[in-house]
Amino acid sequence: MQTFIILLAAIISFTIFFQWWRRYDRRMLRASAFPEKWREFLNNQVPLYARLPDELKRELEGHIQVFLSEKYFEGAGGLEITDEMRVTVAAQACVLLLGRNTNYYPQLSSIIIYPAAYIAEHITHEGLVEIRDNQVRLGEAWHRGSVVLSWSDVHSGANDIKDGHNVVLHEFAHLLDFEDGRADGVPPLDHRSSYVSWARVMAAEFERLQLKAASDKKSVLDHYGATNPAEFFAVAVEAFYEKPEQLKRKRPELYEELQAFFKVDPAEWARA
Ligand SMILES: [Zn+2]
Repeated sequence: MQTFIILLAAIISFTIFFQWWRRYDRRMLRASAFPEKWREFLNNQVPLYARLPDELKRELEGHIQVFLSEKYFEGAGGLEITDEMRVTVAAQACVLLLGRNTNYYPQLSSIIIYPAAYIAEHITHEGLVEIRDNQVRLGEAWHRGSVVLSWSDVHSGANDIKDGHNVVLHEFAHLLDFEDGRADGVPPLDHRSSYVSWARVMAAEFERLQLKAASDKKSVLDHYGATNPAEFFAVAVEAFYEKPEQLKRKRPELYEELQAFFKVDPAEWARA
């Protein structure tokens, strides 16, 4: 019994020390000078960065330093990872962390990048029958461990910040959704009361998009969001950052829910 108590005390002390050390390390990384070359990548590759007010630019640079120190990048399909790729992905992933208390995608350890769209095996079940087919993918987020991306789509998605398509914002929105262990389009919210209005607004907006998609009518949200609530959230996040003024005007309640969660107002950045 005594050995057990000593062991437990040692584990608790180590955990407390590790958490303290990680907070300290992250603070130091955020405070360290941001490499000028990386800022050049941001100015050239990530127009969303240029839109940010100065204080959010500095916050983003701090987040990028932490992200790049903690996450491992791996090239696939013969791709060699460069600093430009790492900074371009990190910047967009970290836009979703601005203004919030963040633990930097705790379930994510690595980002795998292919040169372009890649083929992945897709497995579904119909009753007891397993169906396997090959799908072309631009990116995917796994519940634990990894995000997979196509570099040519990361590049084009980052460069056009008005089309509502951004594979990095999309896949990292999925990671936020997964943080409570479920892929249901509901990331962990701040207050219990927030879940009530989130559920009401999101359910109505999802249903509306399903109707639009079924009748092939135009919408500020990509019809892919009608697939399921998890895809709806990821697609809505893309529109929130890339078509903020349009989303705020056309779907104000949806915009308001996303603004309450992300604690930023991208429509304001777009106007400025
Ligand atoms: Zn998705």
